Amino acid sequence: MKKRVIKTDIVIIGAGIIGCAIARALSRYSKSVLVIDKEADVGWGTTKANSGIIHAGYAGEKNSLKLKLSHKGNKLFRKNAQDLDIPINNIGSMVNAIEKEKIGELERLYKQGKENGIKDIEIIRNKNKIKDLEPNIYDKVNATLFAKDACITSPYEAAIALFENSKENGVSYLFENKVLDIKFEKNFLIGTGQYLIESRFIINAAGVYADIIASMIGDNSFTIQPVKGQYYILDKETFGFVKHTNFPVAKGEKKKSKGILLSPTCDGNTLIGPNYVEAKKGGIATDLKSYIEIKSKAKKYFKNVPFDKTITSFSGLRAVSGTNDFIISPSEVNHKFINVAGIQSPGLTCTFAISDMVIDILIDSEAQFKKNKSFNPIRKGIKRFSQKIVNESISFNKKSNNYANIVCRCEKVSESEVLEAIRRGAKTLDGVKFRTRAGMGRCQGGYCSLRIIKILSRELGMPVENVTKKGNRSSIIKGKIN
Ligand SMILES: Cc1cc2nc3c(=O)[nH]c(=O)nc-3n(C[C@H](O)[C@H](O)[C@H](O)COP(=O)(O)OP(=O)(O)OC[C@H]3O[C@@H](n4cnc5c(N)ncnc54)[C@H](O)[C@@H]3O)c2cc1C
Repeated sequence: MKKRVIKTDIVIIGAGIIGCAIARALSRYSKSVLVIDKEADVGWGTTKANSGIIHAGYAGEKNSLKLKLSHKGNKLFRKNAQDLDIPINNIGSMVNAIEKEKIGELERLYKQGKENGIKDIEIIRNKNKIKDLEPNIYDKVNATLFAKDACITSPYEAAIALFENSKENGVSYLFENKVLDIKFEKNFLIGTGQYLIESRFIINAAGVYADIIASMIGDNSFTIQPVKGQYYILDKETFGFVKHTNFPVAKGEKKKSKGILLSPTCDGNTLIGPNYVEAKKGGIATDLKSYIEIKSKAKKYFKNVPFDKTITSFSGLRAVSGTNDFIISPSEVNHKFINVAGIQSPGLTCTFAISDMVIDILIDSEAQFKKNKSFNPIRKGIKRFSQKIVNESISFNKKSNNYANIVCRCEKVSESEVLEAIRRGAKTLDGVKFRTRAGMGRCQGGYCSLRIIKILSRELGMPVENVTKKGNRSSIIKGKIN
């Protein structure tokens, strides 16, 4: 089959939070930009499976990009969240120490945070004050590092917001197209199953696959080791069990991760995890061994952790580079190929600091980078029936009966929201789920899945058996139903 040809100025490989943020930053300029992803929608790699913390910016190895960009990233994320209507909640974070000899590590993090520009950070040694912050914490916790600037967000909603805003400002997206090979003649020639894309620049934002993409141009300068982190989500009934994001104090600068956290989520659940297990690319299966580990580590700091209220589990893959730091630079093989790789935690926090850095690299290598005069930074999210007060809900119903038809009972999602999600680009069951939360509640889609499949079928004009869970032939219904 002859491949269709597309010509563009810049290709971004990967529609995760990083690829979408770079796309949105580029849409401030008048360049043609195409984002390619192998999945059927935006943010379905690591972006949809992490803790969702916008860290204050005290953690990371000295002189690392992870440390340098994180406090700046925190400030930029908060600002952009307002423009893009990204859910964000400034609850603050705690790093808790039981053993007195580990308080020295809190002091090191405090000093590092101050040097990095954090103002609102303190070490609390008064047990009553610690209990005021977290009533369910054990009395044996002797000190905590309290950083008021830390926030919680919804990472996949952030990616969706960036996708929508960048699209409105002129960026194109190509989903369900895996990049298979890259050649360089006068420009790059990027091959997927269906397309041949000619581009002057490539931004490699392919997450755990960034080393494979780089090797396609002969750049073997780094490797990416995926490291799995598993989580538990507890029912909304547990909301308030912890009031802040709680980390355990870890083993010092050389530690591999921030440890098992307990945190509320933006949507009112409790999140517990992640652990740290080397994995294969794509290896996101959850396992019992991890569950046992997470349970015992969470119970060290908090009493009566309500694990019996678990509604689901999931895992995500950290993209750990050989240097254990972000790699954000033009490739030595071809300077028009920019690696944005090794974006492990705090990559989400650093989203906008990273996209700014990539723009600076591109501007340095491109003489003519004119502004897009019609750039609009503002995007509004889907109006949520569940978040409206009763009167407003009634006025919603008057505008459209579809607001009165509740499709997902657990999360109180109305048909109107599902229709709006489809209008904004959802083509699959998961596409609707990540845009509306339908299927994320206590029954995990038991009630709403079939209803949503029928709406997708009706609105997209396809038979129900062609509606997929997440594209790429992930069919749900086999055969016909009446
Ligand atoms: C367990 C865990 C917890 C974390 N917690 C936090 C946190 O609390 N705070 C924080 O700041 N950071 C956190 N992070 C880090 C954060 O999640 C990542 O930095 C961020 O999501 C990386 O986004 P990305 O866009 O680089 O990667 P991804 O979201 O993985 O996007 C890469 C995209 O590239 C696509 N792709 C790959 N290969 C190809 C190909 N050949 N062709 C086409 N497309 C391709 C993929 O489909 C994918 O959509 C955490 C990470 C993990 C794993």
